[in-house]
Amino acid sequence: MNDEELLEWYEKAIDFHKKRAPGLLIAAVMIDICRSRLGEVKDQLNAICESISCLCDVVQLMTGCTIGNRYLTIYAELGRFAVTLYDRADGRGIRAFIDLDKISATDTPELYRFFYRTRSAEVKAGGIARLKSGEQVVREFLCVRDQVIGIQHVWVEKFGKPQKPSAARCPKCRESFLQINTTSECAMCSGVSGYYRLEG
Ligand SMILES: [Zn+2]
Repeated sequence: MNDEELLEWYEKAIDFHKKRAPGLLIAAVMIDICRSRLGEVKDQLNAICESISCLCDVVQLMTGCTIGNRYLTIYAELGRFAVTLYDRADGRGIRAFIDLDKISATDTPELYRFFYRTRSAEVKAGGIARLKSGEQVVREFLCVRDQVIGIQHVWVEKFGKPQKPSAARCPKCRESFLQINTTSECAMCSGVSGYYRLEG
């Protein structure tokens, strides 16, 4: 992907993510490298993100692997800005991560501060300073691009079509639900989970 195509994806990603974040552009490069290195897949292309971040949104936008179709899995507990694209047929995958050793503090200082989370307090506060810093991060990243992305060939351990829990009807709320636990009542009614209380 050339810089022009990359910047087009960046704009689409900003539209989708609703925020202008340099991570979106970096994610687009990571995904592009993974996809070209992976080549043809025998079954469905699947993705794994190692954190909940803008990376997840770019994966969904560029690959069509989404949370809803379950071709995207997020291992949020890993907390790394990394992605793996793999073939669901056999788990063959390519993992992309940020190679911090390749990021020069002298050649690409703002990119360096971005990844080490040491941008100035003014930038962290947001507003114009943050936008300007973001533009600088983008400019610096475009000079190094693939050079700062680490690539690994991996085998994903749990691949294939995931088991879908069976559906049941809750005797209490009368709604249909997926039986993730073995209880006959849904998780809300059995008190296992919940996030709201009814008004009144
Ligand atoms: Zn219920």
